[in-house]
Amino acid sequence: MAMTLTGIDGGRVDLAAEALAAFKGSFRGAVLAPGDAGYEEARQVWNAMIDRRPGLIARCTGTMDVVQAVRFARQHGLLHSVRGGGHNIAGLAVCEGGLMIDMSLLRGVWVDPLKRTARAQAGCTLGHLDRETQLHGLAAVLGFVSETGIAGLTVGGGFGYLTRQHGWTCDTVLSMEVVTAQGQVVRASDDENAELFWALRGGGGNFGIVTSFEYRLFPVGPEILGGAIAWRGQDALQVLDAFRELSAVAPRELTLVAALRIAPPAPWLPKEIHGQPMAAIFACYSGKPEEGEALLAPLRRRGNPVADIVTRRPYVQMQSLLDATQPKGRRYYWKSHYLGELGRDAADLAAEHASRIASPHSAILLFQIGGALNELPSGHSPAGNRDAQYVLNIAGAWEKPEDDAKHIQWARDTFEAMKPCSTGGTYINFLTQEEGADRIEAAYGRPALDKLAGIKRQWDPDGFFRHTKGVTG
Ligand SMILES: Cc1cc2nc3c(=O)[nH]c(=O)nc-3n(C[C@H](O)[C@H](O)[C@H](O)COP(=O)(O)OP(=O)(O)OC[C@H]3O[C@@H](n4cnc5c(N)ncnc54)[C@H](O)[C@@H]3O)c2cc1C
Repeated sequence: MAMTLTGIDGGRVDLAAEALAAFKGSFRGAVLAPGDAGYEEARQVWNAMIDRRPGLIARCTGTMDVVQAVRFARQHGLLHSVRGGGHNIAGLAVCEGGLMIDMSLLRGVWVDPLKRTARAQAGCTLGHLDRETQLHGLAAVLGFVSETGIAGLTVGGGFGYLTRQHGWTCDTVLSMEVVTAQGQVVRASDDENAELFWALRGGGGNFGIVTSFEYRLFPVGPEILGGAIAWRGQDALQVLDAFRELSAVAPRELTLVAALRIAPPAPWLPKEIHGQPMAAIFACYSGKPEEGEALLAPLRRRGNPVADIVTRRPYVQMQSLLDATQPKGRRYYWKSHYLGELGRDAADLAAEHASRIASPHSAILLFQIGGALNELPSGHSPAGNRDAQYVLNIAGAWEKPEDDAKHIQWARDTFEAMKPCSTGGTYINFLTQEEGADRIEAAYGRPALDKLAGIKRQWDPDGFFRHTKGVTG
């Protein structure tokens, strides 16, 4: 049956039944259209604010399927998007009416424990990769929520509990296999296609479709000291003071995350605080646990904690501790700044705006990231922002569409108020749908953005990859 799809320039493309049949014949995985079993699930991404319906979803089973999907999109001039873990807040993974190239079934991981490297296919989540590397007491530098996709995270930069020691995730990638806009398969590393490799370490999905990543691994755990300590919201300023003081002196094996929010009905929190404002610090110490105990002792004595689940636990458990706070299917809206320091003014503003949170799911999050990433030269990779010490994420989350305006407004107001505390930079992977050219420039800075635009002209001169945060200038 003939069908109509969205073209790369937004127009209509009428696709003959024979063309679709030829594509399906060349493709090993399933090709789903609206109404097919599995289509609804495959099109849905983490953020329920994104409700797009691709004309076709190509569920890739290997590199050759990715090549065929690229050739098909090119031959018929189709708009397309690339889906990894589907966690991008702006919903870049799913396009309206075009072809969704779905990588999420590609989940192979091969660990070389002697070389301390792992090759992981681009459909892996962080949890898939951690599970295999931890078998050998090793870990890649990944993020804080195990259901996030490695692909989007890595091509946009990436930070997590190991960032202080080793830099952005993309700083620790050794090579990538990439399908280019022309449908060719190339390797990108410092030795091969070095400019493409540079661009893919922070420049997002603008340059090609990565089919696998080779990561450097580091010894971690498998048991670490980690968990969270919670206080009542009225203690927020005291807690942020403690966070500030400890994060200023903490060795790089220790990473802290501060969270200001309304306490969820989580089993680790006492019932009397559920639904009440709270301040929490998540901590992960990947050195010797007894050293971590000593480092965290003053924090645990600060004020009157209402819960403390910092303990020796498997690293993979630590990596999924925040998962329950970020389920797929809620409505999400984020605003974000990098901070060069956490001054008293920033702490005051964070506490003040946290007291105005109206949703039980929203939070102000401060991630400590300073360390190794600051030591690399500014142009090392487009992830850049080598002056950042903290990521501030103003994370709005709620359930009903009729509440959109109020929670979005809270995030915007908090973002505006905290602007003076920002380095001026922001994280490309935290940009929402409406954040455009000025915020993309804030994420990369001008020299890096110009360099990215030049590499884009070379590798994708006709802008084939465009369902992205663009880097054309
Ligand atoms: C709950 C949650 C927690 C998060 N925590 C962290 C964190 O701790 N640290 C952090 O750094 N970030 C974090 N992020 C942000 C995260 O890095 C981005 O959302 C990222 O885009 C997710 O990757 P994905 O593969 O799931 O995305 P998708 O939505 O599947 O893809 C996003 C975009 O990435 C690009 N892309 C995807 N796959 C490929 C590929 N194979 N080749 C080339 N480009 C591709 C495409 O442009 C695509 O549209 C978090 C996000 C969420 C929702």
